[in-house]
Amino acid sequence: MLMAASSLAPAVADDFKYTDEQFADIQMLRYKVAGFDQLSLRQKTLVYYLSEAALQGRDILFDQNGRYNLRIRRLLEAVYTDYKGDRQGDFYRALTVYLKRVWFSNGIHHHYGSEKFVPGFTEADLRAAVRQLDPARLRLPEGQTVDAFCDELFPVIFDPTVMPMRVNQRAGDDLVLTSAGNYYGPGVTQEEAEAFYTAKKDLSNPRPVMMGLNSRLVKQDGRLTERVWRSGGLYGQAIDRIIVCLEKARPFADTPEQAKVIDKLIEYYRTGDLHTFDDYCILWLNDTKGTVDFVNGFTETYGDPLGMKASWESIVNFKDHEATLRTEKLSANAQWFEDHSPVDARFKKEECRGISAKVITAAMLGGDLYPSTAIGINLPNSDWVRREHGSKSVTIGNLTAAYNHAAHGSGMDAEFVIDDATRQLIARYGDACDELHTDLHECLGHGSGKLLPGTDPDSLRAYGATIEEARADLFGLYYVADPKLVELGLTPDMEAYKSQYYTYMLNGLMTQLVRIKPGFTIEEAHMRNRALIARWAYEHGRDKNVVELVKRDGKTYVQINDYAALRGLFGELLAEVQRIKSEGDFAAARDLVENYGVKVDPELHKEILARYEQLHLSPYKGFINPVYTPVRDAEGRITDVRVSYDEAYDEQMLRYSRDYNTLPDIND
Ligand code: ZN
Repeated sequence: MLMAASSLAPAVADDFKYTDEQFADIQMLRYKVAGFDQLSLRQKTLVYYLSEAALQGRDILFDQNGRYNLRIRRLLEAVYTDYKGDRQGDFYRALTVYLKRVWFSNGIHHHYGSEKFVPGFTEADLRAAVRQLDPARLRLPEGQTVDAFCDELFPVIFDPTVMPMRVNQRAGDDLVLTSAGNYYGPGVTQEEAEAFYTAKKDLSNPRPVMMGLNSRLVKQDGRLTERVWRSGGLYGQAIDRIIVCLEKARPFADTPEQAKVIDKLIEYYRTGDLHTFDDYCILWLNDTKGTVDFVNGFTETYGDPLGMKASWESIVNFKDHEATLRTEKLSANAQWFEDHSPVDARFKKEECRGISAKVITAAMLGGDLYPSTAIGINLPNSDWVRREHGSKSVTIGNLTAAYNHAAHGSGMDAEFVIDDATRQLIARYGDACDELHTDLHECLGHGSGKLLPGTDPDSLRAYGATIEEARADLFGLYYVADPKLVELGLTPDMEAYKSQYYTYMLNGLMTQLVRIKPGFTIEEAHMRNRALIARWAYEHGRDKNVVELVKRDGKTYVQINDYAALRGLFGELLAEVQRIKSEGDFAAARDLVENYGVKVDPELHKEILARYEQLHLSPYKGFINPVYTPVRDAEGRITDVRVSYDEAYDEQMLRYSRDYNTLPDIND
């Protein structure tokens, strides 16, 4: 997966309203579903039902992110809608910000940094507001009083020592016990969880399922057991509603292959069988001929400190045929890129197969892709499926375009880029090279290389996600500067890549730190990856003065003195990161991440935050979904689907909480 870095490039004018409200550290954006009206009625209907399926899983993610999240969200929503006091007062305003953050993060922890939010109101104020509510709105458990209900939930909201981190990655801690995510039941330790899955693994099996992917590991009568997320199992109520939507979508499938994909997904949701999931992934990979496509399921494992259990997500999309010509050029040459990479021959794929790459237009975002989302996706994640069947890689054109529009005129480049010449370089090539780096990361980077036989795909454990993102980013950085791209007509000349090198180093060394609060370290895998690459290259190029941090008028700037040498460093690090991945070298992964990807220089951090604050920008962005409204004839058949963009953020969230209210408060 690829997350947007803060883009520095300007964008062209367009009258669509891309930006919406700002709160806390968040800027809400909207994405335009260009081309939707040109789809056939059949395709529009398919998008509509798949979009419904994308929204039905929302409650699952809230519960996965923490066992109290659904109760807290519903409590806050009741206060938000029914509050009788002063709505202009400090309490209601602070509650509104807090609730908007909870909606945005699908829980009470920051979506990116994973630390618990600090409410801007007191326990006493909230308790007073809750007492005013109609008790029926609180859905109190049998026999529980309003005060007892508050006593149970309030420490989770207010006490900084209770569930402080959603995903704790600090070396030396018990990562399972100290993470608030709901992937492991109360009392399960990291050692127990690791031993449980190690015992189940058969390393001689060349086609292992992704162990633990779709279940919570709990202790029952002192023994560990998995509670599987499936129809009739944990989250079964939500999954059943997803199945109903998929069944409605099926008759409108874009291709016969896609109908099989939907059937297999339904079978998997019914059984929870991970072999069925692998079969589904293979069918999904081979469905490349249609226009409409989707992801719906337990997919990415960033929320589990052990990197095994997947959060629920969905995206519905359709192909941007024109922009896809760009990625097709890359994937048609996949073997050339693999053969010429600076990686040791033992770790290269002899035969790159089935890398299908396309540019898509997002039509609906759900679960862990909403409101904060990725701009590129490469799936499936199973190592053997990728090895034998390849992977499907997408870059999401309309989301990237929305980010670029929002970045236009933000003042970031004026403040942080060292000089006019570099600003002009970025203005000229920045957008195109950003897209190209995303394409390289997704279409080729994640799909490149192989594990040595017998290497456990989970051996890098908590460092696995960072190393994997670093591998894909480095592949992109190395090749964005290759003459091959000029030859393929993807870059105009051998100057273009320098814009990407500059913005990448600036972001990794400096500007991404605007997302970190003073005194905190870098936690999120994509941010760790960018810091790791930028700092490693900076340190290892020091003796030759490749990249410098220079001071001008008391401000720090990144200055790149030797772009060619920087490419050499990226190549060197790519070779080492691929070796670590291929051999499963945990100690080397840990050293690389801990030495370069985690720590923050407090002096530089302070300076960056002060400079950033003057720009009044939000470091995080996310999207309000469009609304699809079916038009029906007298018999109830859909005759058209209309798309609109005017729903407010809070309206959308409250509507989702009402219409896609799939799970009970407590899911044990
Ligand atoms: Zn990625």
